[in-house]
Amino acid sequence: MSASEAQPTPRSVDAVVVGAGFSGMYLLHQLREQGLSVVVFEAGTDVGGTWYWNRYPGARVDVESLAYSYSFSPDLEQEYQWEERYPTQPEILKYARHVADRFDLRRDIVFRTRVTAATWEEEAGTWLVRTEHGDAVSARFFVMATGCLSASKMPEIPGLESFKGATYHTAHWPHEGVDFDGKRVALIGTGSSGVQSIPVIAEQAADLTVFQRTPAYSLPARNRPLRPDEIAERKASYRAYRQAQRESAAGIPVTVPTKSALEVSDAERDAIYEAAWESGSLVNLLSTFTDLATDQAANDTAKRWIHRKIHEVVKDSEVADDLCPDYPVGTKRPCLDTGYYETYNRPDVHLVNLRRTPLVEITEKGVRTAEREYEADIIVYATGFDAMTGALTNVDIRGRDGVSLKETWQAGPRTYLGLGSAGFPNMFMITGPGSPSVLSNMVVSIEQHVDWVAGVIRHLDAEGLRTIEATPQAQDDWVAHVNEIAGYTLYPKANSWYMGANVPGKPRVFMPYAGGVGAYRKRCDEVAAKGYEGFALTV
Ligand code: FAD
Ligand code: NAP
Repeated sequence: MSASEAQPTPRSVDAVVVGAGFSGMYLLHQLREQGLSVVVFEAGTDVGGTWYWNRYPGARVDVESLAYSYSFSPDLEQEYQWEERYPTQPEILKYARHVADRFDLRRDIVFRTRVTAATWEEEAGTWLVRTEHGDAVSARFFVMATGCLSASKMPEIPGLESFKGATYHTAHWPHEGVDFDGKRVALIGTGSSGVQSIPVIAEQAADLTVFQRTPAYSLPARNRPLRPDEIAERKASYRAYRQAQRESAAGIPVTVPTKSALEVSDAERDAIYEAAWESGSLVNLLSTFTDLATDQAANDTAKRWIHRKIHEVVKDSEVADDLCPDYPVGTKRPCLDTGYYETYNRPDVHLVNLRRTPLVEITEKGVRTAEREYEADIIVYATGFDAMTGALTNVDIRGRDGVSLKETWQAGPRTYLGLGSAGFPNMFMITGPGSPSVLSNMVVSIEQHVDWVAGVIRHLDAEGLRTIEATPQAQDDWVAHVNEIAGYTLYPKANSWYMGANVPGKPRVFMPYAGGVGAYRKRCDEVAAKGYEGFALTV
């Protein structure tokens, strides 16, 4: 069934799910398997979420395809043929479409429909969910599968509207692509989206000027086609591999480090960093030593080593200096690139360090810094997202007594396990703030949350219970625990989107849970085994 042939929206279902990315798709499948009626609302015109929207040149996953894929169906695992180690956006979108077809998902997804509001109706014990088209659906369960990185963000720069050329945001890339041939391009932002797109745009454009506020740490991906023997090997051992993913710290099994970066000789440390750099795997780099995430001096060794690498690649030493980050490695999301640093050796690529010459405004003709105006035909904004909370608070969610989620979270998100929030019964978040989410291979975290939510609903139905809701005490304790763990790390030292620092006025709170995927899963399982400890269940 095509998106446009979807069924009319029902008025009452067991569960409303918002979002048809990897989270919403799997949730729909699981809940339907349990015999529930489900409707999924999706703002886009097809499934895939992140991989539907982010079509910028060079967009790729930075977790290997054989790991960044669903594990719930062994048949799907066996039949799907990944082509590359790090697939491109079109290949991942093709996978999402394949899953939608294979499990006949589209018949319960209403595309082109943004959910605008959801209200808990105390007497009925249901959620009333409203869409931009005026539909209203009531449901016993309401699940926000809206993604941690789906509310894109334009920068607060004066004059944004005045530019006469073409403007694009990486997360809203036109489906027909952009022709950069012969064009002067200005690109603002050097996070993962910028780092991935810059080398590809540089190849096509006449001239590219990159406006950088904060440099990224980026590791060469060493992408390549997958070899038949490695695919066969993984497929033969998938069950054990998936279990290892679930028990790992970040959803990707790695050799757990045993040594401090400060207890080895310079030569040994260099060799260990070199091996990680050569492996083309971010998680390998971040797990070289026990104390990179927690000890400034240990982290400094990685920082200095990467600075040296940047200087080895980038010929102009002033440009290389500008590309060297000063915050601890890993405290902002590191990037995986293909030819990123090399791109700055091109004569037609220019780096503008906004720390030295701040961005003043967007003009009719281009970008003006404190120093001069840069004329451009196209401006690309690779300026990221209102991460983790943006997609949740964009919907007017009202829980018990009409209390608004947005207002409740004014000082920062408050959840129990990142799954539920006190005052919002029968509402769940997939990879919500307070869960490992963005610090992990997200498909692993998504599947864990979906399975847990499906389990709760099974439990309520089996026991004849009507509602489940996080208790304020359990939520307070969990928020304190999330903060305590973050406090052991260097994460709070960077102005990252993990901390909400990229959105003016957003509270500075470390939002994901840094305790690791394996430990977190164990906690969620224990909570379930103890009859959903920390949640209030009512008949
Ligand atoms: P999403 O894929 O974001 O889907 C959410 C969906 O909800 C969207 O389609 C959106 O349109 C819809 N939606 C939101 N609000 C509403 C509303 N109010 N009404 C209706 N629909 C709504 N993670 C990794 O683990 N590894 C990676 O390499 C990686 N690469 C990434 C690259 C990019 C460019 C980005 C942006 C993110 C990347 N991520 C990566 C994170 C990625 O978001 C997750 O891996 C995963 O795809 C999230 O799936 P999801 O279904 O939870 O959310
Ligand atoms: P991002 O990491 O938030 O990067 C946004 C960039 O824009 C930053 O360099 C930021 O600078 C800059 N910026 C924002 N506002 C600005 C302003 N007013 N003036 C100048 N510069 C400004 O966003 P993203 O690159 O889209 O990535 C977001 C996340 O999505 C990633 O961290 C990752 O989790 C995921 N992702 C993954 C991949 C992948 O490789 N698989 C690819 C893309 C995205 P500051 O740092 O100074 O704020």
